[in-house]
Amino acid sequence: MTTDRPEPRTVLVTGGNRGIGLAIARAFAAQGDKVVVTSRSGEAPEGLQAVQGDVTSTESVDAAFTAAEELLGGPIEVVVANAGVTKDTLLMRMSDEDFDQVIDTNLAGAFRCARRASKGMIRLRRGRLIFVSSVVGLYGSPGQANYAASKSGLVGLARSITRELGGRGITANVVAPGFVETDMTAVLPEDTVAGYKKAIPAGRLGSTDEIASVVTFLASPGASYISGAVIPVDGGLGMGH
Ligand code: NDP
Repeated sequence: MTTDRPEPRTVLVTGGNRGIGLAIARAFAAQGDKVVVTSRSGEAPEGLQAVQGDVTSTESVDAAFTAAEELLGGPIEVVVANAGVTKDTLLMRMSDEDFDQVIDTNLAGAFRCARRASKGMIRLRRGRLIFVSSVVGLYGSPGQANYAASKSGLVGLARSITRELGGRGITANVVAPGFVETDMTAVLPEDTVAGYKKAIPAGRLGSTDEIASVVTFLASPGASYISGAVIPVDGGLGMGH
């Protein structure tokens, strides 16, 4: 295990303008890494550099990485594929568009970022890919067939990348948050949240910082031998899957 910290790393966080992504970006910046966040608007949160990037478009992802590499002065060493959306409805009512849009953002978006990032990482002979999944990916959830399918797909993506690129100093891992207080969960009805709290052994929702600390660990020298793993951060809800 390598414990001494190398030079500040170059980090790109998709959907890093708010919620979990913003907490992750701030955590990397706080430990001295060089961070760029992406979002559809490209607006920079206070104290962070940002570029515009829509993960549903290969051209936009490519342009975002190129712009981030220019800002950071080199290839991206750590990519956190965090951008995600929900479009919840029961299976019978779920349209093709509801399904496709969620898969295109959450799963294909992560794939596009990993593919673009892999070029620089292979050249550097090091890299960390971290995919933000969800407890729902392996636990399932009524009304979220599209979302759960997209989030479990990230497990196969990370494990296949691990098998392809593990020998080149690149790791690929999945973080599976439980329910976290952000814009995404703010729309849930009160009784739904109360029901979740009862089901979560910790008895509460998680904070964005509790997700960020696990993501920064997976990017740290201490996590150099972890790859293809799914790390639950859910107050015990999924019981480790
Ligand atoms: P928010 O809804 O607060 O933020 C979503 C982020 O994704 C925004 O930054 C948004 O940027 C970005 N995004 C959405 N679509 C695109 C796109 N096409 N291209 C680029 N960026 C996009 O979500 P959270 O912070 O709650 O969630 C972050 C991640 O964590 C998601 O993947 C989510 O599925 C996952 N997660 C969240 C949980 C929770 O309880 N909150 C639980 C488990 C997992 P923009 O400003 O452009 O809209």
